[in-house]
Amino acid sequence: MGLYGCPTIVNNVETIAVVPTILRRGAKWFASMGRPKNTGTKIFCISGNVNAPCNVEEEMGIPLKELIEKHAGGVIGGWKNLQAVIPGGSSMPMVPKDICETLRMDFDSLVEVKSGLGTAGVVVINKDEDIVKCMARIARFYKHESCGQCTPCREGAGWMWRILERTAKGEATHKDIDLLSDVTKQIEGHTICAFGEGSAWPVQGLLRHFRKEIDKRCFSEPTIKKKRKIPYLIDQHKLESKDA
Ligand code: SF4
Repeated sequence: MGLYGCPTIVNNVETIAVVPTILRRGAKWFASMGRPKNTGTKIFCISGNVNAPCNVEEEMGIPLKELIEKHAGGVIGGWKNLQAVIPGGSSMPMVPKDICETLRMDFDSLVEVKSGLGTAGVVVINKDEDIVKCMARIARFYKHESCGQCTPCREGAGWMWRILERTAKGEATHKDIDLLSDVTKQIEGHTICAFGEGSAWPVQGLLRHFRKEIDKRCFSEPTIKKKRKIPYLIDQHKLESKDA
């Protein structure tokens, strides 16, 4: 039963849930965990290529490797099989394995590596996955979810998705990848809500860390020369996968 006997939405459940314990044990106890400006606990949701996906409350600043191995049964195929991790939900830039080795899961540590703690939704991607396909799938989600109010988000989200799909199929050119990078920057900071950044930042993360791998796939003739229909300026929500 909700407030006044009515259906009730409870926001910030994570914060509300921890309040009784803080009242019982004291603010000093809570603040003694983590490091300055990054204190207390955090609820991490670990998914992707791990042996035991889970939702767990841990101390802020826990090393990412420890978090994955202690609670999620480790990376499928072992830590050496890790390719990258999206540390804060799909809207945050991914970080590659070499950074993951020593990464601590708190706000400032993730900003230092040009990512973010975000929702603390940790998505583990191992070397069995095609990283570009993963990113194309995420971009498709953002294209679908854009409300369409701002042009950079509405058009840019679909644009990023289509270029990533072409890249995954080996049909993109080097210029397409430059264009992809440019589109992310045209979206970032030019929209009404933060959804724009949420769609652009993960693509920027991919380009920042996997540009060499992406460039190796780009050998095609420009798609325009092949006279393929590219529906750049149509209603994104009516877009069918065919020709997209
Ligand atoms: S940035 Fe926000 S308001 Fe603008 S189109 Fe995207 S979802 Fe809608």
